[in-house]
Amino acid sequence: MEWKDKALKVLDEVPDFVKPIARKAIEKMAEEHGMKKVTEEIALKVKAKYLGIEEGENKKKIAIVRCDIVSEVCPGIGCLQAYENSKELFERYTGKDTALVGFFTCGGCSGRRTFRLANNLKRYGVDAIHMSSCMLMEEPFNRCIFKEDIKKSIEALGIEVVEGTHHEVGKFALGNRFHEKKSTK
Ligand code: SF4
Repeated sequence: MEWKDKALKVLDEVPDFVKPIARKAIEKMAEEHGMKKVTEEIALKVKAKYLGIEEGENKKKIAIVRCDIVSEVCPGIGCLQAYENSKELFERYTGKDTALVGFFTCGGCSGRRTFRLANNLKRYGVDAIHMSSCMLMEEPFNRCIFKEDIKKSIEALGIEVVEGTHHEVGKFALGNRFHEKKSTK
């Protein structure tokens, strides 16, 4: 399908990792509207609908950065379920309208990808980025030794950082899932 220049500009502003999905969704909606060419208006409509970017002034936009190493063995279920159910570190949003606009890994030590992707998300008004619990806890994986640098790189963009996703302070996040740390006495 043909695209008008202004519509292509809208697509260009979508983060690379969702661009193919966004393109399909926009073309589908254009077809449904009987259009032969994608217009800026339809592109913006889809962007708002599917990416939760421009909808609702009061919608809090949240993203999660997680450990690239841990992502080899973890599909991110703990983070996503905690968000979905407003539990643990997401409890703070209870009763608020939120959108999860990003879920990405740090790119490997020393978290080189984080700044770039956080910067991309900033263009879409992300309000807060959560650092996954696996980056912060000692077990079953080691705590991320770059966590402070990663945190500062996000904060330098003026984005709030929340430490954690699905653990409670004093408890393990994974492995010994949510159980209290056993006393060593
Ligand atoms: S920088 Fe930290 S969060 Fe990223 S892969 Fe290394 S240990 Fe994991």
